[in-house]
Amino acid sequence: MKQKTSGMNNRSSNEKFDVVVIGGGPAGMMAAGRAAELGAKVLLIEKNEEFGKKLLLTGKGRCNLTQAEFSAEGGSAFGGEKKFIEALGKNGKFLFPGLLNFGVEETMDFFEKRGLKLKIERGGRVFPTSDKAQDVLRVLLNYLKENKVAVSPSTEVFELKAEDARIKEVVCSKGKISTDNYIVCTGGKSYAWTGSNGAGYRWMEKLGHHIVEPRPALAPIRIKEKWVKDLQGLSLKNVKITIFSAKGGSASGGQNNKKQDERFGEMLFTHFGLSGPIILDVSKKVGELLSLGEVIISLDLKPALEFAKLDERLQRDFKKYQNKAFKNALNDLLPKRLIEIIVKFSGISQDKPVNQINKNERSKLVNLLKNFKMTAIDLMDFDQAIITTGGVDLKEIDPRAMKSKLIDNLFLAGEIINLDGPTGGYNLQICWSTGCLAGEKAAELSRLNKA
Ligand SMILES: Cc1cc2nc3c(=O)[nH]c(=O)nc-3n(C[C@H](O)[C@H](O)[C@H](O)COP(=O)(O)OP(=O)(O)OC[C@H]3O[C@@H](n4cnc5c(N)ncnc54)[C@H](O)[C@@H]3O)c2cc1C
Repeated sequence: MKQKTSGMNNRSSNEKFDVVVIGGGPAGMMAAGRAAELGAKVLLIEKNEEFGKKLLLTGKGRCNLTQAEFSAEGGSAFGGEKKFIEALGKNGKFLFPGLLNFGVEETMDFFEKRGLKLKIERGGRVFPTSDKAQDVLRVLLNYLKENKVAVSPSTEVFELKAEDARIKEVVCSKGKISTDNYIVCTGGKSYAWTGSNGAGYRWMEKLGHHIVEPRPALAPIRIKEKWVKDLQGLSLKNVKITIFSAKGGSASGGQNNKKQDERFGEMLFTHFGLSGPIILDVSKKVGELLSLGEVIISLDLKPALEFAKLDERLQRDFKKYQNKAFKNALNDLLPKRLIEIIVKFSGISQDKPVNQINKNERSKLVNLLKNFKMTAIDLMDFDQAIITTGGVDLKEIDPRAMKSKLIDNLFLAGEIINLDGPTGGYNLQICWSTGCLAGEKAAELSRLNKA
């Protein structure tokens, strides 16, 4: 999409702003627009020629912009927010003030009031009805324009210079800029070609912040067994995966085969291993466990059927196909491409007539269908990870203002901070909530400084 930023380029570095926002992704655009809406004079700096390069990739180009499953949760006060926060794991409560200030409903209102029709799909995933991430970006660019945010694309920031716990100036490819307050929204390290290459972490470290080691998350998983390659492209719906730490005593807390996590839904075989929503969602946990020992992924191909029910189902199928060879008797139960593999690992001869398969063999087959084991060896790297887990330590940020506790005039928002969620629109909601709060508080502080 050609973005209209004309007339705002090459601005003079002597021009005075109240707030400078670095990084024109979802968090930066929200922060800049909100600060300007509240009256601050704002400059948004982005190193790419265009804004929101990663945003355009989200939801496979459809942009799953938030997560509405819990937004209408009644009963207790803040029930929806609590559930949202629980889904983010142990760091989730950091988002509570941000989510109360600008949560899922406010996000949906924000886009709908600006003409973007939204729809809620399975699992509470919210998309534009147009299925176009460009339309989400268009709303944000209009928001910047409406509020007269000055934008400086194709401008790379190299350094933030600080003195006496305050940022004094930003050194960038177009010179130096000095202002009251700064909001840093440079993202994480994943999909670096979109612009987020981890530069923000280095600046933050230099300013004295602790960076929790950035690691790939929501990433496909590499599998040891070579046969997975034969299933490349096969997508399975309504399956369950369970994660076990197998060897490595510390990973399992001293217990081998300890269940660590499980997910139900859709997954995909790739040439190197596994991907798809449920795999991405367990990948963070798998990554943590892999650093401690071996990890087993057990696939239940028929989670809706208990062992006995699945056995009954097999008996019915075997009766129906009683004169067929084993390899030709599983068509009603499994996708074609999976049959060859299951037959191979069942230990039953592929040509054995099904009416000769005994109870013991059937029982082993049921076990295989419900516990199809694979060994995780690695997560795919940042170039294939949807997000980065890790980042600026939350202990050093005030969650009610998104303000650094170490640097007086520094605010942070989006993926640069040590907060992330599963797939389903959680990560963009983190950007909207933290971006909006940082923008509001930076504008407020600038106003107070002037008064
Ligand atoms: C393939 C893919 C699909 C995804 N799908 C979804 C989804 O459907 N739903 C969801 O919730 N999340 C999704 N995500 C995650 C989501 O896109 C990110 O969490 C989000 O973009 C983070 O926003 P951000 O503004 O913090 O950082 P970014 O979007 O990474 O933006 C940071 C910006 O800062 C700029 N920048 C960096 N360094 C400098 C510098 N030195 N000088 C100037 N500018 C700089 C970058 O160029 C970039 O434009 C997806 C991610 C990927 C990769």
